[in-house]
Amino acid sequence: MTVATRAAEIGVKGIGKDFGTFTALDDISLTVGRGEFLTLLGPSGSGKTTFLMLLAGFEDATRGSMTLDGQDMTRVPAEKRGFGMVFQGYALFPHMTVEQNIAFPLKVQKRPAREIKARVSDIVEMVGLGGHGHKRPAQLSGGQQQRVALARALACEPPVMLLDEPFSALDKNLRGQMQDEVRRLHRETGTTFVFVTHDQSEALALSSRVAIFEAGKLQQIAPPREVYERPENRFVAEFLGDINLLPLRDTMRDGDMLRGTFAGRTLRAPGHENGQTLAVRPEYMSLGHSQPGSGNAIPAKVTDLTYLGAETRIDLRGPEGTDIVLTHASGDLPPDLAPGSDIWASWPEQKGFLL
Ligand code: ATP
Repeated sequence: MTVATRAAEIGVKGIGKDFGTFTALDDISLTVGRGEFLTLLGPSGSGKTTFLMLLAGFEDATRGSMTLDGQDMTRVPAEKRGFGMVFQGYALFPHMTVEQNIAFPLKVQKRPAREIKARVSDIVEMVGLGGHGHKRPAQLSGGQQQRVALARALACEPPVMLLDEPFSALDKNLRGQMQDEVRRLHRETGTTFVFVTHDQSEALALSSRVAIFEAGKLQQIAPPREVYERPENRFVAEFLGDINLLPLRDTMRDGDMLRGTFAGRTLRAPGHENGQTLAVRPEYMSLGHSQPGSGNAIPAKVTDLTYLGAETRIDLRGPEGTDIVLTHASGDLPPDLAPGSDIWASWPEQKGFLL
């Protein structure tokens, strides 16, 4: 079943927010495309919730402007924006049933009773709560309560859905299920979603693009693969996961690559306009007993092995005391590998990047 919506595009230009003398957001400009799933990702205090509150109209911007489908909405009050909202622990009305909770915003809009009934019944099915419509929130699990909150937010066919860490109180399995659910609801409704999280894997799994915030500034906005594999700066690279950083010396351009030396070995990485530190993610590094014939490689000594299930994390000490980490499928780990083993860590030149 598809529920018709009217997805909108949001434009944000030079937005800033001060609380007294403290600048919580500084000069944010971005566009959220019609039907896009944008995730705001960043550490605690980076300004994600403040930004969502500005989009919702619950806070006023100190500077800058915002548009909805090209129309200025900077000073439009929250209730006139008509966005759907889901927050962590977003309170459902405890004395109302699931159906009454979902019907509530439609009643406020004075929609005809027959339309409300049909729509509530559609949405209850859509969020997988068929058979629970007459229960009260206290009779539902945490995941089911969040489904009601999602359903209530979607009931009025909002042009934009705003979600602030909606699943952070749920356990890991349930959280995974709710992420799948939100992805499906986004696909089926086609509406514009803006989702806040501080969980990197949640952001990568859900989004069409990720906006990374740090200390009130937008650091990068790009599709998940790009922010992970081609981060624009060191903060983004380190925030999204483990990263090996090798400072290059005597660098020079080599076709489309930058060539330099690290501990006397020649290494290469794509691009030459960026910095001089070669960065490579642990999962792109392989290990072997001898130096491979091609690609980048450095000798190292194993310092620790950590079994993580499907993967094993291997900590290494490289030349010049550099700490290196790589991950390897646990199933085909060389059996003689142990702390103290001398190995070669290698990776394809194309998998490195420069910071
Ligand atoms: P978290 O992941 O912890 O929710 P966040 O990235 O959502 O963090 P915000 O809640 O947007 O961060 O807060 C950004 C900064 O603005 C913080 O330093 C916070 O203390 C400050 N701040 C937020 N709201 C107010 C307020 N009403 N008055 C003063 N300072 C505020």
